[in-house]
Amino acid sequence: MDAYPEGYAGKFLKVDLSSESVSKEATDSAIATKYVGGVGFGAKLLYDQVVPGVEWNDPANRIIWALGPFNGTALPGSGTFCVISKGPMTDLAASSQANGFFGAYLKTNALDGIVVDGLAKRWCYLYIHDGVAELRNADHLLGKDTWETEEALREELNDRRLSVCCIGPAGENTVRFAAVVANKSHVAGHNGLGAVMGAKKLKAIAVSRSTFMVPVADASRLSSLTREHARMLQEATAKGGMYKWGTAANLPQMPDEGTLPIKNYTTNIFPEYMRFSGEYIRTQFEVKPNPCWACPTHHCETIKVTQGPYTGYEGEEPEYEQLAAFGPVIGQTDPGAATMLSNLGDQLGLEANECGWLIGWVMECYEKGLLTKSDTDGLEMIWGNVEATAALLRKVAYREGCGNLLAEGVKRAAEKLGGEAVQCAIYSQKGASPRGHDHRPRWDEMMDTCFSNTGTVEVGGAYLQPEQLGYPSIPSVRTMHDPWQTPVAIALGNGRRQFEDCLCACRFLYPNLQRTLDILNAITGWEFDKDRAMEVGRRVINYLRVFNLRHGLTKEMEVPSARYGSVPVDGPNKGLAVMPNWDFMRSVYYQNMSWDPDTGKPLPETLRRLGLEHLVADLEDI
Ligand code: SF4
Repeated sequence: MDAYPEGYAGKFLKVDLSSESVSKEATDSAIATKYVGGVGFGAKLLYDQVVPGVEWNDPANRIIWALGPFNGTALPGSGTFCVISKGPMTDLAASSQANGFFGAYLKTNALDGIVVDGLAKRWCYLYIHDGVAELRNADHLLGKDTWETEEALREELNDRRLSVCCIGPAGENTVRFAAVVANKSHVAGHNGLGAVMGAKKLKAIAVSRSTFMVPVADASRLSSLTREHARMLQEATAKGGMYKWGTAANLPQMPDEGTLPIKNYTTNIFPEYMRFSGEYIRTQFEVKPNPCWACPTHHCETIKVTQGPYTGYEGEEPEYEQLAAFGPVIGQTDPGAATMLSNLGDQLGLEANECGWLIGWVMECYEKGLLTKSDTDGLEMIWGNVEATAALLRKVAYREGCGNLLAEGVKRAAEKLGGEAVQCAIYSQKGASPRGHDHRPRWDEMMDTCFSNTGTVEVGGAYLQPEQLGYPSIPSVRTMHDPWQTPVAIALGNGRRQFEDCLCACRFLYPNLQRTLDILNAITGWEFDKDRAMEVGRRVINYLRVFNLRHGLTKEMEVPSARYGSVPVDGPNKGLAVMPNWDFMRSVYYQNMSWDPDTGKPLPETLRRLGLEHLVADLEDI
């Protein structure tokens, strides 16, 4: 085995819950150069260790925390970590990232990640400190929400800086859209990773900061790039935008685009939208910076509500998608109430987007008489009813009464109810939850949601900076409705996001690909350029694609639900129809990904070109 490259610890922690054993395994350095880290490591481990027939809640499923070469450095936002598994929303691959401190602390314990296998006989948590790991009894943590769990472990382990990655009641009760929550508000939310932890009886992973210093190829160059990058971020923060006002900074432009999701897509009219903008919230409420590891921006803040019925409420400031889910999606107009509901969702350990689509669907069904009070355990689920929403979230998290069916997520709940209720539900046919936008005028992101292999978007807007990838700009790709150019554009950009998710740094902070590559090369001593970066990203995508095909993916699942792909009835995109073009666009996308245009299977030459020739035979059986 070659010496492990700089930027890595060279070891993964292997946890077998069934036998209550932990051990460290050296990883091959060739894996690092080929898959880089994060989702790249996770995709390979998942494929190799979770064979077809293993379901998301089987003991043989794995849940993997994977780090990358940026973790453990002083780079802004390098506390990020990636969680990979087979997820319960899609019954296919799941990959989700969260920021905070967990990734940085784990690396200081000389680890590149953790692979968890098996099923514990009793509830447990994993404690990692001073480079050692131990499984401990978690009976006393059961029933605690994610914030209480973090607090209890900090007290018990006498470490106020402890970073805790845990599940709340939703994960304990295997709610399909349960999230993994770290540092209170940093959520690896998509595709039910918290339910996988719950199915394994793993309540939390607690990590103390230790002393391992990650080796770096060119420390002086990295130091100067880090300083330069931090200065650039500080300057950008002073100018405004997301770094100054948070992720709701751009909300005011959304109604004009028709991209603000309102009342479960039944309208595009929401006069109260300005109250949900980042600038409004930050100038009207009391906020304080609450940054992640080495982050100089003002993206994350704590908040005290100063207006409306929830005046005095204190918690974490909601992200845009939480504001959307607990505001316009459910016809709710008070940002203070949205703050309370967002925090409640995080505490219960629920993924916010799916909460919004679920509650919005219940409210529409209630309005139409498809659900009545007897179906909702007496809750009056009218649009915007905040207290009924809070009560329903608790029922879902504990699978109480009507919450038991709703805990399956909107797709499965709607299919169980049947009839017109199915027509009202927003989901992809894979089961993935769309992000918190009205995608009907965003054909790019609707396709990304439906075609992605991870349970959430995979391309993530990479096509918006085509010049960084070396191809010419396609004007207005974000809002154009061209059945040929839109899928071509997203296919061309696909790979960049997955490459960046191999590095494990906050996606918000690294908009310049060349600078990112300069940093990677200073850490590792490699000579990555954009082509090699895109090759890694494409390798990850194709690895996950073959995994999914072997686990049951068909092209019929890469379609929006009836409501998700419906025609807006009012607003700026009234009458715009995506579905007449869908089959054609999917085929164009497949073709431009070098997949079979009819089936979506990667072509053998595509796999060989990416160094994945060993997967060719696996695809032949499908
Ligand atoms: S931009 Fe936000 S999420 Fe990213 S590192 Fe900074 S505070 Fe954390």
